[in-house]
Amino acid sequence: MNCPIDCSKVRFAVAAVAEAAQLVRRVQQELVVDAITKDDKSPVTIADFAAQALIGRRLEETFPNMGFVGEESSEKLRTEEGRKTLKTITSMVQKCIEGATAEDVCRWIDRGTGEPTDNFWTLDPVDGTKGFLRGDQYAVALAYIRDGVVRVGALGCPELAEGARPEKGGCGSLLVARRTNGTFVRTLGDERAAWRQLRVSQCQEISQARLLRSVERTHTSIVGVRELVARLEITAEPVRMDSQAKYAVLASGGGEVNVRLLTSARPDYREKIWDQAAGSIIVEEAGGRVTDLDGKSLDFTQGRTLAKNRGILATNGLLHEAALNGLKQVGA
Ligand code: AMP
Ligand code: MG
Repeated sequence: MNCPIDCSKVRFAVAAVAEAAQLVRRVQQELVVDAITKDDKSPVTIADFAAQALIGRRLEETFPNMGFVGEESSEKLRTEEGRKTLKTITSMVQKCIEGATAEDVCRWIDRGTGEPTDNFWTLDPVDGTKGFLRGDQYAVALAYIRDGVVRVGALGCPELAEGARPEKGGCGSLLVARRTNGTFVRTLGDERAAWRQLRVSQCQEISQARLLRSVERTHTSIVGVRELVARLEITAEPVRMDSQAKYAVLASGGGEVNVRLLTSARPDYREKIWDQAAGSIIVEEAGGRVTDLDGKSLDFTQGRTLAKNRGILATNGLLHEAALNGLKQVGA
């Protein structure tokens, strides 16, 4: 069923993310995941590369003149050490594209090694690799950015039901948003499933907020989250969840506040654009608000990172100012 906010970019994002997320799920089910180490030490998986290859291929076909900025590059796969991994990736990609060769796979992945321009797509092929490896939440996140504004975003969340409830081994959720046209969700594994519009929670009382945060303590300050919760007199225990699935939950009204605080180990860490682009439009178009920890809009014109922003605050909108005040008071 076509999405109510259908246009060529929405149609592309829905089809591309659905295909990639289904393959990623298959990889998780069928393979013992081999993680290889890349320079920033984050684990990358067969799924990561296969998903980027699939989406790179679709972009080559559908929008050959548009930029593409993805998280991965084939550099390590082309070495002697990477050859076995490349073979496995190629066999996974062949489940969707008959006859794909290892060379095709590398070429499709490397379409994503470009720098951001004024008209491009950005992809996190498996956001939340740690969640993926642990068997928790992860997401395929794709967004289209023109003139520094995220126009379309899609999230494929194989372990979420209805965009809100963790459900392992279920049908998963596919979310899509288009600027000024809203955010919609449908079952990931069913093209004929009906789309449903999402709306953030209407909670207006900060002490009643459900706060979402990363599982990984290297990705957010746990002490900072604890101080914020105490300062705002939030009674519910923070919900720990990996990946941009947190934004899906926020857009669906399953939580009110999502923070990414800076850690004392990496005070200068800046968010990658593919970690925020799709999730931010999904939340905004469901009625929520996304800024950095100082209340500044996210600036997607600074290359591969949000160089001018510190951390992230995403809320249902109604609680944004209260959360920003709390952040100021705890010195986050
Ligand atoms: P999450 O699943 O919410 O923990 O977020 C996963 C994302 O955190 C990954 O895609 C990484 O890009 C990002 N990440 C990696 N290192 C850091 C760090 N030191 N601080 C904040 N985020 C990070
Ligand atoms: Mg990521």
